[in-house]
Amino acid sequence: MAPANPSDDGIDRRIYAEQVRLLYAQAPLDTCASLLLTCLLALILWPTIARPALLTWLILLETTLLLRLALILAFQRAPNPDQSAIERWADRYTWACTASGICWGGCVFLLVLSPSLVYQTLIALFLGGALMGGVLTMTPVLTTCAFYSLPLALPPVLWLLLQEDLIRTVMGITGILYLLLALGTAHRYHQNLTRSLRLAIENLALAHASAVAKEQTETINRQLADQQAALQDSVTGFQEFYRVVSIPRRHINERLQALLVMGCQRFDTAIGLVTCIEGQRYEVIHAIAPSDEIVRGDVFNLSDTYCDHTLKAQSPLGFEHAAASRWREHPCYLKFKLETYLGAQIQVGGEPYGTLCFSDYRPRAKLFSTVDQELIRLMARWAGAVIEQDRMAMAVQRQHTLLVHASRLNTLGEMASGLAHEINQPITAITLYTETCLARLQNGSFNPVEIRETLEKIAAQSTRTNAIIQHIRRFARQSKPQYLTVRIKDMLDGIDDFLRLEIRRHQVQLYQTIAPDLPAVLADPIQFQQVILNLIHNAVDAMSASTEPRTITLFAHSDREMVEIGVKDTGPGIAADVLNQLLHPFFTTKPDGLGLGLSISQSIIEAHGGRLWATPNPGRGITFHFTLPLANRGDTPESAKTDLSLETAGIG
Ligand code: ADP
Repeated sequence: MAPANPSDDGIDRRIYAEQVRLLYAQAPLDTCASLLLTCLLALILWPTIARPALLTWLILLETTLLLRLALILAFQRAPNPDQSAIERWADRYTWACTASGICWGGCVFLLVLSPSLVYQTLIALFLGGALMGGVLTMTPVLTTCAFYSLPLALPPVLWLLLQEDLIRTVMGITGILYLLLALGTAHRYHQNLTRSLRLAIENLALAHASAVAKEQTETINRQLADQQAALQDSVTGFQEFYRVVSIPRRHINERLQALLVMGCQRFDTAIGLVTCIEGQRYEVIHAIAPSDEIVRGDVFNLSDTYCDHTLKAQSPLGFEHAAASRWREHPCYLKFKLETYLGAQIQVGGEPYGTLCFSDYRPRAKLFSTVDQELIRLMARWAGAVIEQDRMAMAVQRQHTLLVHASRLNTLGEMASGLAHEINQPITAITLYTETCLARLQNGSFNPVEIRETLEKIAAQSTRTNAIIQHIRRFARQSKPQYLTVRIKDMLDGIDDFLRLEIRRHQVQLYQTIAPDLPAVLADPIQFQQVILNLIHNAVDAMSASTEPRTITLFAHSDREMVEIGVKDTGPGIAADVLNQLLHPFFTTKPDGLGLGLSISQSIIEAHGGRLWATPNPGRGITFHFTLPLANRGDTPESAKTDLSLETAGIG
């Protein structure tokens, strides 16, 4: 006997359950009172009504009342009944109350058997009490109330109404009024109760919802706080990383070392490594380790390292306490007892190169976060880019060295005939002197003093030949640039032969105005000579068709930081609109020219930390200028820095 459509609404079911509980809660009082009332009524009627009828009525009614009491006790002991059980409990009690109501209604026989109106009034009074008591306690469940009150009241009322007696008829009418009043009151009370229960349940639901909402808000707040902390942590991590990548460091070693320092601080580890892996060979390329226990160049077996797995995993690998995990079985742990590890793969040119990893002998209290993993992935990517950049720079450097050398050989090639002539002269002289000596020795008319002088001339000529050949060999040799502290004058002396040869080629006058107190510069002598020869060679070429006097002025002077060297000619010069193209690679106006001499000269000078440029002369011709840093200036050019240790005294 659940509510009309309880399945529609869960709240109705909960209200109904509460009503049933209330029904059982209020029932003991009414049931016990009824037990007493029935006994009292039987006692009063005992002398006047036939005992079998009275006893039958009494036993039947008391049985139903005891049944109700038993149900009440059983309900109280039932463990938290669910919805369907509640409905069963309600039905049981309703049927028990219906039985009580029917037995009370059986009072009609007592009325019939009563000897006088007084007894009948007394019975009606007891019935009214039983009706009101029942209705008051059963209102939580209207069905129970109706099933109890209708069989209780209707039979006696109907009997009273059927009597042709005014008093009894009035009693019947009063009985009907009582019944209606009781049912009306019960209905109103039931509605109020339902409303209150609904409110209470809704409040409870509201309170529950607000408690859930509060809990959810707190959880969200906690998550937000965690996310904020993680965000802050990632910002700090990326700021540290940005500091490392943004500081201009000139050498790969400095850059990778700074990365390792940052990583060790960030991940709180003592060891940081950049490694190169080839097959099973695991080589340390850069290292930070306490007491230098692992240093650059150390080689391990890959399978003895955690990095073996980093390479296979292709994503960052990290753990904080190897002894407490499966890593305690790993050869790396067995050999080195490294507890903490975080590593990522380095790729160079899209191929696996090695790893960037951080480790420690201590377990790490805090777990590596997602931010840590992302950070090391980024750091490894950057390390790969730096290594790749360095490889490319080295390749470019190698190409440049080859190009510079090729250009030097080209210059030599262009001077080949002149050089052959230059060597031929002393050789011819040596031949002549030798023949003269031989002739004199053969005819025996020789003067020892003359012979000695001739031999001395032969020796001088062969020394000169040797010197030229040495100059050519040195100039043609392919070697790494060697930046030395040298004087301009000494370097120019080193190509004296070549210069002479060039100016003789086209009857050019060469003037040298080199300041006497010129400080030493930091330069590679061979490359300096290459630039000078190239500029002079171009000047000679430019003036070759000129009918005007052909002069080249080689000058050099200095300021506080640089020495400026210039080659000025009296040739035709160059049109203003192509002046700025002179230094472009492959710009040439010569039919057999390569257009590389000036651009290579420019790259050589720039590698020295200087500058090369051209200016038209006020009169005729053009001047090429270039600068070289003073040796004592301090800020050595980057390209020169690594070779300073090679400084030697001998040049030219
Ligand atoms: P190449 O000598 O093979 O042409 P360079 O780079 O040495 O290559 O010279 C490029 C061009 O610059 C020359 O072709 C020439 O037109 C011009 N040039 C170089 N030096 C002079 C100069 N002293 N006077 C006039 N033009 C010059």
